[in-house]
Amino acid sequence: MKTVVLKFGGTSVGSIDRIKKVCKIIASYKKKKNKVVVISSAMSGVTNDLINKSKLISNNFEKAEYDALLSTGEQVSCALIAGRLNHIGFKSRSWQSWQIPIITEGPYSSGRIKRVIVKNLKDYLKNGGIPIITGFQGVNNKFRLTTIGRSGSDATAIMLAKFIKADECIIYTDVEGVYTTDPRNYKKAKKIEKIFYDEMLEMASLGSKVMQPTSVQDAKLNNIDINVKSSFILKSGTLITGSKKAFSDQIITGISSTKNDAKITIVGVKDRPGVAASIFKPLSKNLINVDMVVQNISLNGKETDLTFTIKSDDLQKTEKLIKQNKKISFKKLSFDKDVSKVSIIGVGMITAPGITYRMFQALASKKINILVISTSEIKISVLISTKHVKKAISVLHKEFNLD
Ligand code: ADP
Ligand code: ASP
Ligand code: MG
Repeated sequence: MKTVVLKFGGTSVGSIDRIKKVCKIIASYKKKKNKVVVISSAMSGVTNDLINKSKLISNNFEKAEYDALLSTGEQVSCALIAGRLNHIGFKSRSWQSWQIPIITEGPYSSGRIKRVIVKNLKDYLKNGGIPIITGFQGVNNKFRLTTIGRSGSDATAIMLAKFIKADECIIYTDVEGVYTTDPRNYKKAKKIEKIFYDEMLEMASLGSKVMQPTSVQDAKLNNIDINVKSSFILKSGTLITGSKKAFSDQIITGISSTKNDAKITIVGVKDRPGVAASIFKPLSKNLINVDMVVQNISLNGKETDLTFTIKSDDLQKTEKLIKQNKKISFKKLSFDKDVSKVSIIGVGMITAPGITYRMFQALASKKINILVISTSEIKISVLISTKHVKKAISVLHKEFNLD
């Protein structure tokens, strides 16, 4: 008898009607004599609504209470799913993460799942039950509720699959799988049949929100194959795997883009050792994530310009920290809020020369100016003006034969 883990995202359980449909999918696995473990997100919009409520109470909401608040959304969806399964004749119950327990480590709002005690779940499965488990959350060593980052139900599903030693882990969502680029932004996007963990990790980290980056990392570390499928229509999806069998010879697998980036340039900072560290130290202390960084070559050997990107939510705070920083001096500070990072990703580029040139040439042909560049072995990212993102995706999609 196979054990399958099924995860349903917010849109998949976004209404009563959707929950009834999802229960039919769950029932179909049960009827095929599988042991079925279900992980659910909150109904779509619920977590955002809870966040907005917390802001109305305080702009400095206590961290542990914030997680206690945010984790309520999943309790509702899981109880509704279990209730419906009972109604149509299946043995099922909801399990909150502290009841299992799912043990997390790390700070509130961005914990990581460390352990899942599966004994009771296993007994329940053996007795024919379908456990419906709250995604996105756990309990820490102080026995307080924690959450594991937005979209965290993906990671819950993967860690459950690991600890329960599942044969299959299926992520049900509102698109048919992982596409070459966001199918909602570009109509010619193609469904990818198989993708490597590393490619998926880059795509997710670079803005393809179909999978939470942490969850892909967890899957890679534990060698768990993931199937991404639609809960809306019955079609084959995408396999995320480490297996090298039967892969296409495509050089570029996908294109991602980000929203809400901001670029900061500090003009005329001293060109001597320790200056960059002095600039970034207060940012790191305030948990501001710096992404792309470039420093110009100093023309006079004394001063240089430093450009870097952050999330636009952090812009005000960053500006304040730089202005307050007594360890540095500079001539001018400039900001650009309307920038986005567009990235091409593919393990094929390791062995194919000329990819950087083709990317830059394609962008140039559409008169798209590149502001900052960063590369790794399997991706090339460029920062461009947000208004050019659609055009950039379209020309790159064509250039690398993804259309
Ligand atoms: P869920 O609620 O099921 O977790 P998400 O909203 O987190 O779903 O992720 C699915 C969404 O991801 C899709 O609706 C799609 O717009 C978006 N998306 C972004 N990039 C991609 C991509 N490369 N392939 C598929 N979907 C993508
Ligand atoms: N409900 C949480 C969120 O909206 C977790 C998830 O959907 O995976 O981020
Ligand atoms: Mg998601």
